[in-house]
Amino acid sequence: MPLTSDQLAEVAAQRDASQPTLRATVPALEALLYQPMPVLDHGFVRVIDYMGDDGAVVQAARVSYGRGTRRVSEDAGLIRYLMRHRHSTPFEMCEIKFHVKLPIFVARQWIRHRMANVNEYSARYSILDREFYIPAPEHLAAQSSTNRQGRGEVLQGQEAAAVLDMLRADATLTYDHYAHMLNETPDGQPADPARQGLARELARMNLTLNTYTQWYWKADLHNLLGFLSLRADSHAQYEIRAYADAMLDAVRAWVPLTFQAFQDYRMGAVTLSAGMLAVVRRMLAGEPVDQPGSNLSKREWTELMETLGR
Ligand SMILES: Cc1cc2nc3c(=O)[nH]c(=O)nc-3n(C[C@H](O)[C@H](O)[C@H](O)COP(=O)(O)OP(=O)(O)OC[C@H]3O[C@@H](n4cnc5c(N)ncnc54)[C@H](O)[C@@H]3O)c2cc1C
Repeated sequence: MPLTSDQLAEVAAQRDASQPTLRATVPALEALLYQPMPVLDHGFVRVIDYMGDDGAVVQAARVSYGRGTRRVSEDAGLIRYLMRHRHSTPFEMCEIKFHVKLPIFVARQWIRHRMANVNEYSARYSILDREFYIPAPEHLAAQSSTNRQGRGEVLQGQEAAAVLDMLRADATLTYDHYAHMLNETPDGQPADPARQGLARELARMNLTLNTYTQWYWKADLHNLLGFLSLRADSHAQYEIRAYADAMLDAVRAWVPLTFQAFQDYRMGAVTLSAGMLAVVRRMLAGEPVDQPGSNLSKREWTELMETLGR
């Protein structure tokens, strides 16, 4: 676990202090609150705060004076209707805040999701930890020959060992140079009094992209689901998917009705183009259809056949 004993004590102290509130709380999410869910080799995601629950979604949809919830089955039906028809604003009434520790190259993908509030650890003011992401052997794969954005076969034997050695050696070397250029002891004194030391904001440019950074990331439920639909998808890069999977666990605990609707109508659903739908209709009518006669590109045809399990 990447937290120090002092950090773990701070988490425990926060969990020990409870406060009364009139606002909606969710026991299953309270159980996760503040606790780091480990991700990759040194990373984590932890829920820092949240606002609302499934009830807040139906309350906003019904514009109620009170909680607005009725029977669970009615609330579930309404949430499923909203999700199915992309009536998204009621989901924006819920918010969640995460603390995330992640490699810089994952942060670069993640930050493209602009509908969120982010505050990143400042490497201008502070010194980054000596922690680098080194993939587990089963995630050390070759470039895919069929998908320019994907991975192929897992590297084996000598080649895998050599790659791991290079990743470790490069990260360690650049971090050693970073520490040397900073010229600071852990208590902020010059390591070598004869040198001035380079500014933190400049020394950091030498670090490798697998160095870990941290941020607080807050989003509303609608935009969080948008993020998860792209990043928990099987086509997403494994490293960001590992974070999305941990966040999905938090969503399941927080808003179980919304989570189920999301699974059914977003994660487990597919979109068919007009051309694909025409092919499905012809197939259902018993007509033999092949790719050349389908008006679909080879790629679209392959995607459709994979979707249909043919
Ligand atoms: C498989 C994959 C490959 C990708 N490859 C690349 C790549 O090669 N290069 C690259 O740069 N990015 C890449 N991206 C990032 C991608 O282009 C999006 O930036 C990212 O997924 C965030 O999606 P988003 O804009 O929907 O989310 P958000 O930024 O969170 O926005 C949510 C929604 O808000 C609206 N919105 C937000 N900002 C604006 C705006 N300025 N104008 C209008 N509407 C806005 C849009 O409706 C948007 O869908 C890739 C993403 C995926 C999933």
